[in-house]
Amino acid sequence: MGMGVKTTETGIAMTNKVLIIEDSLTSKAILEDILTQNGFETRSATNGKEGLRILSEWTPNVILLDLVMPGMDGFSVCREIRQMDLHPRPSVIIVSVKGDNESIVTSLANGADDFIVKPIKEPELIARVTAQQRIRDFYRELEEDKRNLETILDITSTMAASLDPSEVLNTIVSKVAGVTQAVRCSIVLIANQENEGYVLASHEDPAVRELKIDLSKYPEIQQVINTKAPLALEDIVNNPIMNQVKESVKDFEGMSILIVPIVFNDEVLGTLFLRTRKKVNGFSKKEIDFCRIVANASFHALRNARLFEKVVKEKDYLKEMAVRDHLTSLYNHNFFYSRLDEEFERAVRYETPLALIMMDIDNFKQINDTYGHRVGDMVLKEISALIKKGVRKTDIVARYGGEEFSVILPHTLVKGAVDEAERLREMIESHAYAGLVNHKVTISVGVASYPQKGAMNSGDLVNHADDALYRAKWSGKNCVKIAEV
Ligand code: GH3
Ligand code: MG
Ligand code: MG
Repeated sequence: MGMGVKTTETGIAMTNKVLIIEDSLTSKAILEDILTQNGFETRSATNGKEGLRILSEWTPNVILLDLVMPGMDGFSVCREIRQMDLHPRPSVIIVSVKGDNESIVTSLANGADDFIVKPIKEPELIARVTAQQRIRDFYRELEEDKRNLETILDITSTMAASLDPSEVLNTIVSKVAGVTQAVRCSIVLIANQENEGYVLASHEDPAVRELKIDLSKYPEIQQVINTKAPLALEDIVNNPIMNQVKESVKDFEGMSILIVPIVFNDEVLGTLFLRTRKKVNGFSKKEIDFCRIVANASFHALRNARLFEKVVKEKDYLKEMAVRDHLTSLYNHNFFYSRLDEEFERAVRYETPLALIMMDIDNFKQINDTYGHRVGDMVLKEISALIKKGVRKTDIVARYGGEEFSVILPHTLVKGAVDEAERLREMIESHAYAGLVNHKVTISVGVASYPQKGAMNSGDLVNHADDALYRAKWSGKNCVKIAEV
């Protein structure tokens, strides 16, 4: 590898490209020779115009520019180059026979970075070109530091602005992936249970929220949990640490990974996980340091994510409990009424049919008296399960009262509701109940529907179904009656 080829921290070999703008063919040939022999890639122009044209399609790292040329002189060419505002900015070194103070000062004032006096001496030329390269590397590093700092600021301001931990974690993974060029960046929560982990955020799929993973299949994560230190693994497919899981990483040929622990109070809460498409030198020291800072900053979000999920689950549970009946887990009386109101309004608005079934267990008091309250409870539970099983998915089943049940049937005509009621009545009659000896349990049923004369609101519907139920009781129980108007 010659002087002109430099391996950067990230492992990419960068050829140093030099453009020579020189009208003297001898000087041009000497420059080309020296540079090529030292591993530089060169292109040449014999006047300023041609040089500028090359720059419009090819950006060198260094431009060696003659001062005295026919047409445009070196000063004008230099000024034009600076006006082009090239990225990355090439260094301009003036090469001239005129070594007087004024030439040097004017060159620098016109945007040149350095000056070489002819005749050209190889060691000096190489030293000056290399010095420019060093300055550019230094700038690049500063740029990288600046970008990393900006990213950290971005992440911390998202943290301050958002209460949703999943949004915060998603911001972190997408920003880190952007800065490091990782093909995958995710945050894994380490659960308290043995070998249980959850991918809480993953940059290539923002929908990932709680993907459960088996940590026994991730020896690299286990090592980080144990050592509490970052781990950069090169060439994961052939890495000894991955030996026992070789089969599951075989698709990651030529890739490296970086795992940084997210530690709080000496406990590893989770890990920042990155994978990149590089076999060696996958992550630079700077990138690892950056990830450590981000990981340190993430622990709050991760801890909040843990709490947040728990609170949301508890809230959902409480909400559910508020509308459910304890004994049977069916919807309760209150929920029944609010749902019936909603369904009635919807039926009116969209002119769709709606039906209501009301059921009351026949002679239930006798069951309590004969077998005791506890067996009575068991029968209520069994009947609830039978009803639940016997209705359609879209029907809403509620425990209306002690031994009274109701079913709301959206989009259902009276005929369909009567069929369903009859089916339920038969199921309940033919069922063998635990704890009862030779005892048939039956129900009486009333069916009401909308549209129907006199059914102006949900209360009317309940009254109609009640009336029908009353008639079912009167006509000897264990039967279905339809509301009469
Ligand atoms: P009918 O055929 O006229 O409906 O007679 P019935 O005995 O079923 O009706 P009644 O209204 O006289 O009695 C209902 C009984 O249901 C009285 C009450 O103790 C019982 N009951 C209500 N809620 C529960 C409960 O949660 N568990 C038990 N075991 N019994 C209940
Ligand atoms: Mg009753
Ligand atoms: Mg009853």
